[in-house]
Amino acid sequence: MVEREMRCIICPLGCVMRLFFDGEGSAPLWAEGAECAKGREYAERELTDPRRTLTSTVKVRGGCFPLVSARSSAPLPKHMLLPAAALLRGVSLQAPVAAGQVILPDIMGTGTALVATGTVERALGL
Ligand code: SF4
Repeated sequence: MVEREMRCIICPLGCVMRLFFDGEGSAPLWAEGAECAKGREYAERELTDPRRTLTSTVKVRGGCFPLVSARSSAPLPKHMLLPAAALLRGVSLQAPVAAGQVILPDIMGTGTALVATGTVERALGL
């Protein structure tokens, strides 16, 4: 049996939970310290399938800014964040870029899109 402490980040109360589970990748058998069921759900996700939203920037050619901000349309498995970020270093867009524009429809076969969150107009004179 493994014991681990984890802070719930679902609401500002930030309950600190003590989790008891069988080993890496297994769901908690017991959780103490959570004030509600959402904390236990969060702990289970964190232990079995941790995910994070990817936020990054992508190069823009011919724009009034050299980069545009972007984020994944849904959280990605945590272990894919660094490979996905590395993949983005090779991506560039031609200006203009509009907020909401799909940059990559399917990040590394996850079915999750990368979407521009900013706008970059075409640079004058280019
Ligand atoms: S366990 Fe519930 S009350 Fe505590 S931080 Fe998480 S969501 Fe908030």
